[in-house]
Amino acid sequence: MEIAKRIQKLGTETAFAVSAEAAAFAAKGNKVYPFHLGDMNILTPANVMEGAIKAMQDGKTGYCPNAGIPQLREILAADVSAARGIPYSMENVAIQPGGKPTIGKFILALMNPGDEVLYPNPGYPIYESQIEFNGGIAVPYSYLEGEDNFDIDIEKLAKKITPKTKLLILNDLQNPTGAECAMEELQKLAKLVSKHNLFVLCDEAYFDIRYAGQSTSFAALPGMAERSIILYTFSKKFAMTGWRLGAAIGPKEIIDVIAKLNVNDESCPNHFIQYGAIAGLTGDQTEVRQILDTLKKRRDAAVDILNSIDGIHCFRPNATFYLFPNVTAAMQQKGLYDYEEFRRSVLTATGVSFCSRLHFGRPLEGEKNAYIRLAYSGIDKSEIEEGLAKFKAFIED
Ligand code: PLP
Repeated sequence: MEIAKRIQKLGTETAFAVSAEAAAFAAKGNKVYPFHLGDMNILTPANVMEGAIKAMQDGKTGYCPNAGIPQLREILAADVSAARGIPYSMENVAIQPGGKPTIGKFILALMNPGDEVLYPNPGYPIYESQIEFNGGIAVPYSYLEGEDNFDIDIEKLAKKITPKTKLLILNDLQNPTGAECAMEELQKLAKLVSKHNLFVLCDEAYFDIRYAGQSTSFAALPGMAERSIILYTFSKKFAMTGWRLGAAIGPKEIIDVIAKLNVNDESCPNHFIQYGAIAGLTGDQTEVRQILDTLKKRRDAAVDILNSIDGIHCFRPNATFYLFPNVTAAMQQKGLYDYEEFRRSVLTATGVSFCSRLHFGRPLEGEKNAYIRLAYSGIDKSEIEEGLAKFKAFIED
């Protein structure tokens, strides 16, 4: 058997390997505190479930239009328009089986082999994987740590733009750092995008996972809607990670291409689930607010303990469900200088399982600080407190 050569360029989410290690550790009878995966242990709102079940019983079990059912496309366009201040209509929306498919389809629609694509590093690993798999050149841009945020190093990013640069991937409200772009940062990026005629993937997976302030879409800046595809997902806001429902939203010409890719890949998104999504978007929002409230309490518990640990600094992100504490001094204190050694030592000694910077792209030249990533979407507050107390004891011992 010979596996096709192109597969060598396909990356993966190494966080799943951390999951497997944690599961193997738990199978031996050990207690595990799962901070490694951005999955959710919160129930999907009842009205979403009821909407989907009713649709199934009503016979919405056959194929549906390739870009999704018109009602959902219309309602989602109105919802996204109102939240972002961009006038979208149904024609601007192609429903997807999750948020993730928008990444590959955006790249397939707009990138030719040999084109350069700017992407965040540390960042969601699927960007690099999809760029390289499809024959592009993945060009990482980095972040600078501030007191209470991570800022994109725009000066460095600008220097990486060449005549071959075609696309920019922007994950504002970022996984893994929890970083949020200031308006000034977005404006600087918009200037570069216009000047160099780039197209942008606005990965807004966490747009609605926000505890204070208001989310801003890069696509809402003057002239940017024409150049941007928004990655929308139902996964996080409605705790629907396993349902697989999202959308690509942007200029009709690109959305038509993405819908054609739907025809080729999955024919259509899951039919009856879309009725659940309609119920979620138009129905009572109490449970959506409760999801946020639960996550906020978890964030505060985790940040408070992390900042009480000698050698760890963690800012309190207003959005996402990730923390990216700087653990440089803590690792030094323990005499551990290798990420994987540190991660495994903590898992073995305390059961606390997390990813490190290594799981979010190849470290860049000149990186001096060490970071780990904790997701608090799949672990209850009491477990956060118990697990991180053990982590604290381990570091300070
Ligand atoms: N983009 C980012 C930044 C993410 O963190 C995730 C999921 O963790 C996704 C996209 C994909 O989301 P979905 O589960 O909807 O495919």
